Amino acid sequence: MEPLRGAIRTYAWGSRTAIAEFTGRPVPAAHPEAELWLGAHPGDPAWLETADGEASLLDVLTADWEGQLGAVAHARFGDRLPFLVKVLAADEPLSLQAHPSTMQAIEGYEREERLGVPVSSPIRNYRDTSHKPELLVALQPFEALAGFRPAARTIELLRALAVSDLDPFIDLLGACPDGGQSDADGLRALFTTWITAPQPDLDVLVPAVLEGAIQYLSSEAGEFAAEAKTVLELGERYPGDAGVLAALLLNRVSLAPGEAIFLSAGNLHTYLHGVGLEVMANSDNVLRGGLTPKHVDVPELLRVLDFTPTTEEALRAAVHTDGPEVVYQTPAEEFAVSRLTLDGAYLGHELDAPAHHDGPQILLCTEGSVTVHAKTGTLTLHRGESAWVPSDDGPIRLLAQQPTALFRATIGL
Ligand SMILES: [Zn+2]
Repeated sequence: MEPLRGAIRTYAWGSRTAIAEFTGRPVPAAHPEAELWLGAHPGDPAWLETADGEASLLDVLTADWEGQLGAVAHARFGDRLPFLVKVLAADEPLSLQAHPSTMQAIEGYEREERLGVPVSSPIRNYRDTSHKPELLVALQPFEALAGFRPAARTIELLRALAVSDLDPFIDLLGACPDGGQSDADGLRALFTTWITAPQPDLDVLVPAVLEGAIQYLSSEAGEFAAEAKTVLELGERYPGDAGVLAALLLNRVSLAPGEAIFLSAGNLHTYLHGVGLEVMANSDNVLRGGLTPKHVDVPELLRVLDFTPTTEEALRAAVHTDGPEVVYQTPAEEFAVSRLTLDGAYLGHELDAPAHHDGPQILLCTEGSVTVHAKTGTLTLHRGESAWVPSDDGPIRLLAQQPTALFRATIGL
């Protein structure tokens, strides 16, 4: 077990305060810091603080995959750490995006290899052959858009905005369910129409929708106030972007600290604001759908998107509570995530914290401080600090003297 120092990623949508404050560095940071990567992604591995100085977690793994991952994880995933942990701090909305299924990722990667698009190219969609299911746990209040809302509810929203220019599109969404059109068909038709609309049309429609949102918010703050505010905020940043219209079709999700959503393949989503812990399969495969100056490959996005409607409730990850440990339930094999809350009766004495298999663990303390005992050593993690526990160094025991929260990520088998 060693202390793990994350790799900080600076993107324009990040925060100059949240990650710097969390990791105990000077505030404000010189650049907006968006993500803290705790993993072994070749693009930006985290660093182990060993007795001989810092070592890349990827290099340490590469020297002994089976010993570090354990026999079970190594047999299943081979020579790779299958998950990546990120602390994400969004001061501004991210791009609208979706991630491919495994089949789509393999097919897309091979296609782009055949076409000779360099892996580092900004127009490359598939940088590896993995799907990228992701779990987002709010560390502070967190706002997101995710998954297509059931069509009937979206029709209510579009009608509430009272924008006559939207009428033909409402018809597209509501086109005679008796005629056999499913919600998914209507959503696909409408989203495709908007995302492929000529710019002059968008330059009329987006401002009309923003005007509708302003009118809606100035009358009575109705049931769609959060949706209307979000559309206004996105429209101010990206005037004329089809993604502003697409945002009208997605569930507006507000998470309190500790609450989580799970995003499976094809789910169109964006994070709007907040600080969260994101755990995902170790992949960088992103198809963008607007709200970004970056490359948007519309045909590829349409191939990957899942238009089956879902609700905010369905996106939320259920939890299973086991003593002080709350385990987030997801279907992902690559990762399992839990939160250990040590307070009250759990303070002041040592607690066994076995994982349910011998896979490797990444620990991240988000409140208080905790002493972690592993087979070969002991270390104390304060808020913002993390540790790598290789397979052969578990199970761990924990001791906290003050209220403490510790996240654990491991494999999901
Ligand atoms: Zn995502």
